Amino acid sequence: MKKIGIIGAMELEVEALKSKMSIRNKKEKASMEFLEGTLQGTEVVIVRSGIGKVNAALCTQILCDLFEVSHIINTGVAGSLKKEIDIGDIVVSVDALHHDVDVRIFGYPLGEVPQVGCLAFPADEHLANLAVSCCKEVNPDIQVYQGRVVSGDQFISDKQVKDHIIDNFQGFCVEMEGASIAHAAYLNHVPFVVIRAISDKADDSAEMDYPTFEKAAAAHSAALVEHMLPLI
Ligand code: SAH
Repeated sequence: MKKIGIIGAMELEVEALKSKMSIRNKKEKASMEFLEGTLQGTEVVIVRSGIGKVNAALCTQILCDLFEVSHIINTGVAGSLKKEIDIGDIVVSVDALHHDVDVRIFGYPLGEVPQVGCLAFPADEHLANLAVSCCKEVNPDIQVYQGRVVSGDQFISDKQVKDHIIDNFQGFCVEMEGASIAHAAYLNHVPFVVIRAISDKADDSAEMDYPTFEKAAAAHSAALVEHMLPLI
């Protein structure tokens, strides 16, 4: 049976979905509240993981162990790494990697976690293609891009740091949870996709832009997730 785990790092990324779902059960684990029920006629577990890679990985493991979800969707906001990807636009993951892992001294490429066997964790193609086609329907005025999501435990708001990430990882957007959700989902053999709407440009303008645009961006991403659910 399909049961979709939906993770947002922050409350504003999941609040609209939570308010629309019909809740059957609430369970607290690792200081996170997991809401079980249905949304758009689909079985879901919706949770705010908290910010950063550790929170997101813990949350993903709990969704796998305790709730036995069949799919995982991460919805939220991110900084753009490409000139053409504007604030409000959506990036759907092809894959996701950690930009803050560096074990090059032992021969691993920058970003690769030793002994896991891959640099970037591939998203589920069906989920990703569905997200793109739904986005064109739900948000016709917004551009949707399919590309790499890169994550680290840093808010990127400096052009030099942004350029370093672009040069090394060919990412489309940068945020703080996607790769660890992807990593945990990969280890558990659960299909996943990361969907992020752009809140800022991950450069010196991010400090101003992020608080201005986070709410609207988070809403774009959540609306897309809601629309996708019955089609999964
Ligand atoms: N405003 C929050 C902190 C937000 S941190 C507070 O005060 O507690 C930024 C969040 O948005 C993270 O969850 C991250 O995934 C995402 N994000 C958006 N833009 C980002 C950027 N430029 N760099 C890194 N993460 C970004």
